[in-house]
Amino acid sequence: MNQKIYNFCAGPAMLPVPVMERAQREFCNFQGLGASVMELSHRGKEFMAVAAKAEQDLRDLLAIPDNYKVLFMHGGGRGQFSAVPLNLLGGDNQKADYLLTGVWSQGALKEGVKFGDMQGHAGSVKGEDGITRLLPTPAFRADAAYVHYCPNETIEGVEMFDIPETGDIPLVADLSSTILSRPIDVSRFGIIYAGAQKNIGPSGLAIAIVRDDLLDKARADVPAVLDYRLTAEHDSMFNTPPTYAWYLAGLVFEWLKEIGGLAEMEARNKAKAALLYDYIDNSSFYSNSVDSACRSRMNVPFQLKNPELDARFLAESKEAGLLALKGHKLVGGMRASLYNAMPIEGVQALIAFMERFANTHG
Ligand SMILES: *Cc1c(COP(=O)(O)O)cnc(C)c1O
Repeated sequence: MNQKIYNFCAGPAMLPVPVMERAQREFCNFQGLGASVMELSHRGKEFMAVAAKAEQDLRDLLAIPDNYKVLFMHGGGRGQFSAVPLNLLGGDNQKADYLLTGVWSQGALKEGVKFGDMQGHAGSVKGEDGITRLLPTPAFRADAAYVHYCPNETIEGVEMFDIPETGDIPLVADLSSTILSRPIDVSRFGIIYAGAQKNIGPSGLAIAIVRDDLLDKARADVPAVLDYRLTAEHDSMFNTPPTYAWYLAGLVFEWLKEIGGLAEMEARNKAKAALLYDYIDNSSFYSNSVDSACRSRMNVPFQLKNPELDARFLAESKEAGLLALKGHKLVGGMRASLYNAMPIEGVQALIAFMERFANTHG
């Protein structure tokens, strides 16, 4: 079988081929040690060098200012849904506001209400025409300890390209499905976090980028593995970190630097998304119901005009080597995730298939 396979899974998602080939070459014998990197002590000098290089490369890629800690943690994106309130609501102020744009920001709020007085604010709306649009930034409570939002809603395919203005209130962002897809101004945020399995590496790892002054606000009962200060003080090695995931993330960061960094990555991601949205917009067989101003570059949900053909579309696309196009069950239809590792050839192959399918069944 030499048909090319493209994996459009929303997460865990595809990794860059050069990264996996390198990991394969080094798998059993890392740097001539005769052992796999996953068999090394996290405190030994070999792994410490891997860990430090990964952090430095991430700092370079995102131009992370010196007053931010970079933490490699357990627990994925959802672990951070709890870590954020536990680390920020230690004082008298128990209030935090959440901007709601979809399933993931609502999930963060649902976890957050366990820990404080949380208020949700609508950030998007589905109009009577069926189109989802962003709303103007709402007025957050002036005394909120933080404002949380999710710049890319992985399920609905809604992306916010402008950073909401929150004045002195620290802004916390769940970048799980958009981190490293384009440059961002880290200095605008109090905390950025992301589960790894979309644009960083394999699952099992979460990265938190935390501004120094927010390390002193934790509740006394914050579990040690979610404690930002403790994690920072131990260079993310208070307990055994997910070492293999950290190593693979480091290879992904190296790959990103080699291809030209996040400006180049953004240009590629723009081109991929534009190709697919243009095709959908010009088709009478497929549609996307997100306002063009906030369409996600990473996750492209689309519907067949005739949903009775969904099962056939999925079966035939799989046969054509295009994997995991089923939309999230909450939205239905299809979803093509175009994370960093998806080459433009994958998008071209998808469009060619969609065109063939429309011509056969239209
Ligand atoms: C995938 C995802 C998560 C959840 O990540 P887990 O690692 O499964 O906990 C959270 N937020 C967003 C935006 C996501 O896309």
